[in-house]
Amino acid sequence: MVTEIADNIGRVRERIAAASRRAGRAPEDIRLIAITKTVPAERIREAYEAGLRDFGENRVQEAAAKRPALSDLTATWHLVGHLQSNKAKPARELFHWFHSLDSMRLGERLNKVAPCSGDKLSVLIEVNLGGEESKSGVHESDVLPLAEAAGSFETLEIRGLMAVPPFFDDPGQVRPYFRRLRELATEIATKNLPRVAMQELSMGMSHDFEVAIEEGATMVRVGTAIFGARS
Ligand SMILES: *Cc1c(COP(=O)(O)O)cnc(C)c1O
Repeated sequence: MVTEIADNIGRVRERIAAASRRAGRAPEDIRLIAITKTVPAERIREAYEAGLRDFGENRVQEAAAKRPALSDLTATWHLVGHLQSNKAKPARELFHWFHSLDSMRLGERLNKVAPCSGDKLSVLIEVNLGGEESKSGVHESDVLPLAEAAGSFETLEIRGLMAVPPFFDDPGQVRPYFRRLRELATEIATKNLPRVAMQELSMGMSHDFEVAIEEGATMVRVGTAIFGARS
């Protein structure tokens, strides 16, 4: 039986494939991350059974509550929301990727609470491209200094940039923001900073991931288009 979630995932995958073709890219180069905030564990498992392996939450506490019911899954877990320094330790225990590094202080904290396993945390720097007060992320001009500093955190791997640009009804209007994030990543890559790679661009959500793929996204974060509207 094909469930509604499996159906939705199929449609999202088709849209990813179509956008990739338009951009002359391979669909396999785009990682689909199912964003599971407010989604109960059983439905996350359904998405897993339909083939998804990457899951993202925006709150540590919510992830901690659901994870015991999902501990048998071989999945990659992403934290995509703003993190307070005092949650750095549980965040490292629960997640493989952190998309929202937005301060030196948080980087220091995350670096310090590394697990004994020696596993590194893959980190993206979140950029507040629209300069919106309500959003987290560093200003464009602070990305390079943060990348330079974060390169000295030996338990973190800086792998790219992430952004949640302003919302537009017409997704075409968000294109310049996605393009800007790619340009920023390219600029930083040319500096050849130690321990800093700029290969990942986490950008694009349910209503604009196609535009993001056309502009170079390597990770799209999709919630509603897979699980339906959040209550
Ligand atoms: C909720 C969320 C998403 C997914 O949004 P949808 O519009 O439901 O696809 C993506 N990224 C972040 C950071 C989120 O908080």
